[in-house]
Amino acid sequence: MKNIIKITKKSGIPLIGTMYFGIMDRSTNILEIRPTTLCNINCTFCSVAAGPKSTYNNDFVVEESYLVEELKKILDFKSTPMDIWINPQGDPTVYPDLVALIEDCRNLKNVKNIIIITNGMLLTKEKIDAYKKAGLTQISLSMNAFSSKKAKELADIPKYDIEKIRKVAKYAASQLKLVLTPVYLKNTNEDEIDSIIKFAKEINATITIQNFLHNRKGRNPVSQQSWKKFLNQMKDWEKKYNIELLKVGKIEKTKLLPKVAKKGQVIEVDIVMDGKFIDEKIAVFQGRNIVVYGAKRLGKAKIKIVRASHNLYFGKLIKGT
Ligand code: SF4
Repeated sequence: MKNIIKITKKSGIPLIGTMYFGIMDRSTNILEIRPTTLCNINCTFCSVAAGPKSTYNNDFVVEESYLVEELKKILDFKSTPMDIWINPQGDPTVYPDLVALIEDCRNLKNVKNIIIITNGMLLTKEKIDAYKKAGLTQISLSMNAFSSKKAKELADIPKYDIEKIRKVAKYAASQLKLVLTPVYLKNTNEDEIDSIIKFAKEINATITIQNFLHNRKGRNPVSQQSWKKFLNQMKDWEKKYNIELLKVGKIEKTKLLPKVAKKGQVIEVDIVMDGKFIDEKIAVFQGRNIVVYGAKRLGKAKIKIVRASHNLYFGKLIKGT
């Protein structure tokens, strides 16, 4: 049984620095916000191995008001219109405060589009209405199969009901922007994607197909398809169905939040809690989180930064706990 760690303002744990929770800034016009790592299904290809069958140690849930407060500071710093992607390493519809989160984001200055990325299993017409009223612009729906048998197999949960999701998707497309985002798995769901493309056209949804990518800590049921083969298949489908399948929105550069450490630097940190995986702890340093490997206990420690990009930090224990 996994633990659920609540990240509250009172905890003093910053919301920038790790991909697990909080806010991610890659110096573009997109801010990704990650309120939870919890997910309700077990996709066989999940890049972060989430869901009831996950075997890592800890999940994280962030206090809604704290997330919004920190987001506001970043938006003020950016001082340019930004898109907010509610894109956790889990599913946003599992987060109990999702409506409040959308509404509070909508009320912040410089927020343009608000997007959720979801598997759709918990979507209902009522929820879509509530999200829309709160200010949601787009739902990105990861529909990876069309037939009931394959959909259940890929979601790895018997109660996954693709027929219900199809109905709700049709409604979502009539209310706001809907993007279907199937992951294309080699020798697994080619026929299904054919049907998903036809469905997207029928309901007036956009579709963006993603190549399955191998992830060291994710679930990898098949090998990664070469980019050449993937792109050739996309071209074939685009021609066959007269549709664009790799469309991405306009991405613009924005100023990056100040970085607090660089690769190779040795720093003193406070190790404050366990990480997601058994071999990780989370440390705090100058308002940022750092995922630390090799530490056994909490407390003061000396670490070496082994990776630092876009304000995401990873370190290795040198001395201390
Ligand atoms: S819905 Fe997303 S987070 Fe959940 S198991 Fe599937 S891929 Fe992973």
